[in-house]
This record gives sequence, C-alpha cells and structure tokens, in this order.
Amino acid sequence: MLDIIQSIRLLDIADILIVAYLIYRILLLIKGTRAVQMVVGISSILMLYFLSTYFELQTLRVVLKTFLGSLLVVIVILFQTEIRRGLARVVLPHFFQTKHVEDSDLEEVVRAATLLARRRLGALIVLERDNGLKDFLEGGFRVDARVQAELLLAIFHTSSPMHDGGVIIHKHRIHSSGCLLPLSQNFTIDKRYGTRHRAALGLSEETDAIVVVVSEETQVISMARNGRLTPFKDETQLLATLRAIFHTKKSAGPGPAAAAKAAPPPQPEAATPRHED
Ligand code: ATP
Ligand code: MG
Repeated sequence: MLDIIQSIRLLDIADILIVAYLIYRILLLIKGTRAVQMVVGISSILMLYFLSTYFELQTLRVVLKTFLGSLLVVIVILFQTEIRRGLARVVLPHFFQTKHVEDSDLEEVVRAATLLARRRLGALIVLERDNGLKDFLEGGFRVDARVQAELLLAIFHTSSPMHDGGVIIHKHRIHSSGCLLPLSQNFTIDKRYGTRHRAALGLSEETDAIVVVVSEETQVISMARNGRLTPFKDETQLLATLRAIFHTKKSAGPGPAAAAKAAPPPQPEAATPRHED
C-alpha cells in the first residue's frame, strides 16, 4: 500500500484531477436533459454485460459485446447536441478575447428592455460573444445599425414586420432582427415559459451568447446564459450583471435607468391590442 502511495507522481494527481473535472463538466452539461436517461440506459447495459460475463451467460454476453463494440458511434449520435454545445463552450481566456460590445451598447440594451417591458412588448436581444452566430443571423433581416434603444423599440413593436424572433448584436452593431433561435429541449424548464424564453435558453445552451428576454405577459426582464434563465428585479441589477460579463465600465452619461425615466411616458398602449403571436 505504502509502495503504491510512494509511486504516485504529481502528474498522476493532475491526471486524476483533469479527468474528475471533465466528468464534472459533462455531468453539468447533461444535467436536466434527456441525456441523463440515456446515461442511465447505457450504464444499465454495461452492468448487464458485466453480470453476463460473471455468470457466463454466453449468448447475452455476445449480443451485448457486439452492441458495446459500436458504443462510441452510438454515443456520438445520441449526444451530438451535447457534444456540439460542449465544444462550442470552450472559450478563450479573458485577455485573448475581443471586445464585443461597448458599455454604451449595454446601456442602450438595458434601456430598451426597460421601456419594452413597461409597454408590454416582448423581445429577444442576443449579445454575441466568442462563439459566432452566423447560422442564426442568416435567417433574419439585415439591419446593420448602431445599438440604440429607440431602434430596438421600433423593431419589437407589434406593428413592425420584423418584431418576431430575436435581434442579434454582433460587433457593436444591431446586425439582424427576426432571427430564429434554437428552442431548448430542457424538459425541466418551468411550464409557464413559452417559446420566447425557450428560444433564449436554447441559444444560451448551444453557444456562449447572452440573451436578454422581455416577457410581454409578465413584463419581467430575464437573461439567459449557459442554459440558465435569471429574472431581474430592476434595470440597475441587469446592467451591473452585463457589465461584469462583458468587462465594461460605466460610460459618462445619465445611465439607462435615468434615461428610461426621462423618456416620454408610453403611448396609450392599453388601446393597442395585446401582442398575440
Ligand atoms: P412571453 O412571456 O413574452 O409571452 P413566452 O416565453 O410565453 O413569452 P411566447 O408567448 O410563446 O413565449 O412568445 C412567442 C414569441 O416568441 C413569438 O412571437 C416570437 O417572436 C418569439 N419566438 C418564438 N420562438 C422563437 C424562436 N425559435 N426564435 C426566436 N424567437 C422566437
Ligand atoms: Mg407567452
């Protein structure tokens, strides 16, 4: 025993820690998804295989051995979404990352979200980070404009032909609107959430993008990040969170809360029919 302990090198410990960390990340990735059931299923087949070997059940052992021989291919097919998502989440350390948004862009997004919520207008605003969102940009309408709250309000107004879908902010600009985002397959999501919130979650599961969601029903502003949805009590909290994520600092100016307050009172939206999508 002592011999074994003495023969352990620092590299062996590092080896074990890396494997343990990878298993932990894989478990985090599949937590709450259908993949959990598949892992249970595959583990049961493995267990059955060991039992068939132990009790010398030849036929069962040969059948299971054949199946397990092609297990790697089966795993890749079954877990393609999780594998794609996991690889997409491998991002560069902070100091190598390019700047995706300015602080003023974040202020405009938060101001827009606040005004949209107040007016009961639903919205999905995607802030791109290191993972490119080209696949999702292609289906939308090209906007290519400076990030401005008023423009976002116009886009998400129910009378706008491009209010459905999400806006994607790419390299400091509103790149496109009306973009179709992938719906989350997470079956543990609260049933109250509809497709808008599922689309926000879905994109945040597949990429490192940050998605700001405004609910037309509840007027709550939430943020989807890494497959988690966080509702915010107020715009100050949302802005502080976005600043921390994008490593930006407060720019000179009144800030979104003051600006949203200073904005003219909402038009008589009550007279506008509720947005039924
Ligand atoms: P809300 O709280 O605002 O009602 P919700 O989560 O209940 O949101 P829905 O009421 O189903 O969601 O919202 C429907 C709207 O969500 C659609 O009109 C469309 O604008 C947007 N949406 C739905 N699916 C997608 C998608 N895959 N990609 C982008 N936007 C989507
Ligand atoms: Mg709804």
